[in-house]
Amino acid sequence: MRLSVVVPVYNEEELIDSLCESIRSSLSAITDDYEVVIVDDGSQDSTLELLMKWHRQDNHFKILSLSRNFGHQAAYTAGLNHTKGDYVVMMDGDLQDPPELIAEMYVKLNSKNLDIVFGKRISRNEGFFKKIMIKLFHSIFSRMSNINAPVNVGNFCIMNRRALDSFIDLKEKNRYLPGLRYFIGFKQSYIEYERSARAAGKTKMGFGRLTTLAMNALFSFSNIPIRVCVYLGMIGVTFSLIAGGVVLYKKLTGDAISGWTSTLFSIYFFGSVQLLFLGIIGEYIYRIFVESQNRPIYIVREFHDD
Ligand code: UDP
Ligand code: MG
Repeated sequence: MRLSVVVPVYNEEELIDSLCESIRSSLSAITDDYEVVIVDDGSQDSTLELLMKWHRQDNHFKILSLSRNFGHQAAYTAGLNHTKGDYVVMMDGDLQDPPELIAEMYVKLNSKNLDIVFGKRISRNEGFFKKIMIKLFHSIFSRMSNINAPVNVGNFCIMNRRALDSFIDLKEKNRYLPGLRYFIGFKQSYIEYERSARAAGKTKMGFGRLTTLAMNALFSFSNIPIRVCVYLGMIGVTFSLIAGGVVLYKKLTGDAISGWTSTLFSIYFFGSVQLLFLGIIGEYIYRIFVESQNRPIYIVREFHDD
C-alpha cells in the first residue's frame, strides 16, 4: 500500500459525499494504490450509513467505527493505528484541509527527502472570536512549551512510515497531536495554505472542547505553569519577610496601627493566590491520574477493511 489517508468524522452527514468525492479525485491523480481510513467517531446521525455506502461501492474506503465519541485527537490516533500505507496523511473531514494539497505535500516530501510535511495556515476563515482565541493559544503555546513547535499548525500533514511508527509509539492519554508530531523530530517541513471555512455543518469542537485541547497542549508540553507557582511563592515569601520586619519595627517603636484593610487585603490576596496554584498543581496531578488509569485512548466497534 502506497498512500493512506486518515479522516476523523463526527456527525458530518451533510458533507460525507462531497468529502469522499473530493478525496477520491485528489488521490487517484497521485496513485491508484491508496486507502482512505475514515474514522466514525461515534456519530449519532447517518454518517456511518453514508460511509458504508461508499465502502461498498469502492473498497479504497475503509471504515473504522468507534464504540462511542472519543474526541477528534483519539479518532485520529485510532485511524493511524489502522493504516498500512508507506505514506500517511492526516486530514480533517470538513474539507477545511483541502485534499488537493495532498499531491503537493507528497511531492515535497519525496523530492526533499523529508519525513514529515505539514500544512501551515497563512490565513483562516473562521469566526472572529474563534480566530482570536486560536491566535492567543498559538502565541502562548509557542512561548510556554519546552519544545519549539511551529505556530499556526494543525493536524493536516503527510508522513512516512518510519515517522508514523514513532508517532504511534507515543501512548500518552492527554494528547495534543501537533505537539507530539513535533516532539518525535525527523526531517520536517511545511507547505503554506489558506484554511477555508467548513464546507457544511457546524463545528464539532465547541469552546469547551477547544479549551480542553489547549490545556492538554500547555500542561503536557510545558512546566512553566508550575514554575510560575514556585517563583511567585518565592517573591511572596520575600515580600512577607520585609513586611514582617516593618510591622515588627513599628510595634517595637510603639506606633502600631490596627489596620483592618491591610489584614483583609492580605487574606484575600494570599487566599486567591493559593487557590490558583492549588489549581495548577491539580492540573498536573489530574494528568498523572489519567495516565495511571491507563485506559485505552479509543475502543473500536468494527473495522470494515475488506
Ligand atoms: N471530529 C471528530 N470527533 C469529535 C469532534 C470532531 O472526529 O469529537 C472531527 C470532525 O468531524 C472534523 C474534524 O474532527 O472532521 C475537525 O472537527 P471540527 O471541524 O469540528 O473542528 P474545528 O475545525 O472547528 O476545530
Ligand atoms: Mg473544522
